[in-house]
Amino acid sequence: MTKVDSETGAWLERSRAALARTDLVPRGEAVGRVVSVADGIARVSGLPDVRLDELLVFEDGCSGFARTLDADEISAVLLDDGLTVEAGSRVTGTNEVMRVPVGPGLLGRVVDPLGRPLDEGPPIVAEAYQPIERAAPSIIDRDLVASPLDTGLLVVDALFALGRGQRELIVGDRATGKTSIAVDAIVNQKHSDVICVYVAVGQRATAVERVIESVRQHGAMERCIFVVASAAASPGLQWVAPFAGFTIAEYFRDRGGHALIVIDDLTKHAATHRELALLTREPPGREAYPGDVFYVHARLLERAAKLSAKLGGGSLTALPVAETDAGNLSAYIPTNLISITDGQIVLDTRLFAANQRPAIDVGLSVSRVGGKAQRPALRDVAGRIRLDYAQFLELEMFTRFGGISDTRVKAQIAHGERIRALLSQPRFSGLGPDQQVALLAALGDGVFDVLPIGAIANVRARLAEQAATDPAKSIETLDESTRARLVETIRRLAVDVGKPPPETPPQGTPP
Ligand code: ATP
Ligand code: MG
Repeated sequence: MTKVDSETGAWLERSRAALARTDLVPRGEAVGRVVSVADGIARVSGLPDVRLDELLVFEDGCSGFARTLDADEISAVLLDDGLTVEAGSRVTGTNEVMRVPVGPGLLGRVVDPLGRPLDEGPPIVAEAYQPIERAAPSIIDRDLVASPLDTGLLVVDALFALGRGQRELIVGDRATGKTSIAVDAIVNQKHSDVICVYVAVGQRATAVERVIESVRQHGAMERCIFVVASAAASPGLQWVAPFAGFTIAEYFRDRGGHALIVIDDLTKHAATHRELALLTREPPGREAYPGDVFYVHARLLERAAKLSAKLGGGSLTALPVAETDAGNLSAYIPTNLISITDGQIVLDTRLFAANQRPAIDVGLSVSRVGGKAQRPALRDVAGRIRLDYAQFLELEMFTRFGGISDTRVKAQIAHGERIRALLSQPRFSGLGPDQQVALLAALGDGVFDVLPIGAIANVRARLAEQAATDPAKSIETLDESTRARLVETIRRLAVDVGKPPPETPPQGTPP
């Protein structure tokens, strides 16, 4: 250990306590001074040996990390509010990068991006401390995305299936239900083997509170970890949060487990990155973002992976969230994220206003790898609806103003309206895979075409209740008799809740 004077030792002691880490060693030989401090950034002189991203400790126990290294000064990003850091304060390097506690001790907990508890619970029992920046698995270390990650949302699982190890962007305007989709996916893991990490970046504290409360109420808390840097947190903490979340989730991936990480949201993270860059005088680029904003998000999301069998076969699925302005998907950050991820779920304000929930734009959304991971049974029955639905949306536009006389077109529109009714789904009513197959098979056989549209929601609600109590089964492949049995279940349910279907039900989809 380097020899340090007693004062440096004392403030390091306070930092160790603040960071809940015992292994920090100061660079005892060099003590720098703060030249100026403002907006969460401190300019420090007298630390020529400090390296990029090195953890720095200030006199009052506040910590920070080195972000830019100039010839005679460095810029340090403060990780706490740093109110006591002032010009003249002393600083020392630690020869260390930022690390977060990882391990099962975090399950069910709410922590800040340095792993300090925010939930008034006991101190976190860490299995290890891992750096927040870790290399993404190489190509050789990866395997194909081959098994599904069920979100319980019929429209997602049927049309934009997610695979374990995939990265799928959730993108849309303000208040269009982005967070709700991610939270539904988290809650749906309560009966699965997937661990969920929810990272809040720059969200209002009340919104985060609501997410945590709903996950707790729906009994998924034990499988969940919350990493929170709300809008009130320092820019440094907000910047660190997604990286810390990934490190925490990777612990499970690297041990052969499966994890899901939600980052809510990367638009705010990009804004924080821009803020820090401008304050440290990096040259601004497009929309004033620094040139490396793409690289920051790419290296972050690249850490989502399905690992090869040799490495345990674990997976980490990422659901980053991005906010658009007036539906503008071609703005800088949304296009960046769209090109980094393996697909996007696009939410639309107009659909939301028209009461379609989730308000997913089926035309713009896509999942580029999940289709291969989808269960064959679900793929069988879901194959047709995308086309039917797209045709219906066009027909609906054309026939909006005129009466339709053609019975074929009328039937097509009636069927489309039923697809739409089936695909909308209230929050926290996840459907199991077998229930989804049953519903779509029944849709294909025209069971719903004879029901009033309002009754469809009731049928789905009944099934969701069953899914909640009886989640285990899942049908992998569909044979004729199973299909007939499933359709029959739905038909009986339909008789229960709505107008009875006719004696001889129509076969196949209407023309
Ligand atoms: P923000 O931009 O503020 O983060 P957001 O896009 O994350 O918003 P949410 O907060 O998830 O949107 O949802 C907005 C509102 O829509 C909430 O009141 C939520 O309850 C409601 N909502 C979302 N999805 C559904 C759904 N499937 N059924 C009913 N209500 C829903
Ligand atoms: Mg939100």
